[in-house]
Amino acid sequence: MIAVIDCAGKLPRLPRHSQLTRWFWQGLDDGVLQTTRCADCGRLSFPPRPDCPDCLSQRTEWQILSVAGTLYTRTRIHVVPEAFIDAAPLDVGIIDLDVGLRLLCWLVEGAQTAPLDSQVELVALRYANGTVIGARPLAHEDA
Ligand SMILES: [Zn+2]
Repeated sequence: MIAVIDCAGKLPRLPRHSQLTRWFWQGLDDGVLQTTRCADCGRLSFPPRPDCPDCLSQRTEWQILSVAGTLYTRTRIHVVPEAFIDAAPLDVGIIDLDVGLRLLCWLVEGAQTAPLDSQVELVALRYANGTVIGARPLAHEDA
């Protein structure tokens, strides 16, 4: 499961949802991080895709992912697209998940200044109009 954090306000722009990725975004709203896995060779893909980039199989299945990973790199974006001006500066990072996937996401709850290579976990940032992926330091405890 992925922790869902309720955030104030609305996202200025949402990621595009396709027929394939709608399942992914719905899962994220419900606290499940998942992507597609090749049913023939086992390769995971992110973002989800209808075929396998390694063996070209079109037999894919959904797999729930562990949220643990490492902060590969991060940056603070001061010059942002117009839609994000009210949210600037934006802190984003590239996360290497322990399952072998690399993805870009927002950094929250101290991950904005965390050392590179430190342990992080993905979280779902749920706004009034949609949910996106974020990462926070793994040491964070809700209890
Ligand atoms: Zn494959």
